[in-house]
Amino acid sequence: MPLIVDIGLTYVELRPTVTVAQQQLDAEPEDEKDEEDVVLEMRTRCERCDRDLVVDGAAVICSFECTFCVDCAESLQSRCPNCGGELVARPRRQT
Ligand SMILES: [Zn+2]
Ligand SMILES: [Zn+2]
Repeated sequence: MPLIVDIGLTYVELRPTVTVAQQQLDAEPEDEKDEEDVVLEMRTRCERCDRDLVVDGAAVICSFECTFCVDCAESLQSRCPNCGGELVARPRRQT
């Protein structure tokens, strides 16, 4: 009999914890997926000189996400040749 009582108490105590953990797990993958989508859209090549751009390296983008290396941004005087938008430093991937 004592054994059955122990199992019952354990079950009652554990269940709320599991439910909370599952809710947190359900919420987190959506956030991570959004971040991955943004990273995938990041271009890895300068549109002007075709230089490879490292994801964590310095680069600039305009408001339409035209992507250039820093050297081209300087010679373009921070103005996008495609759309005339201002080129700003691309935020680096935060891990
Ligand atoms: Zn370039
Ligand atoms: Zn542009």
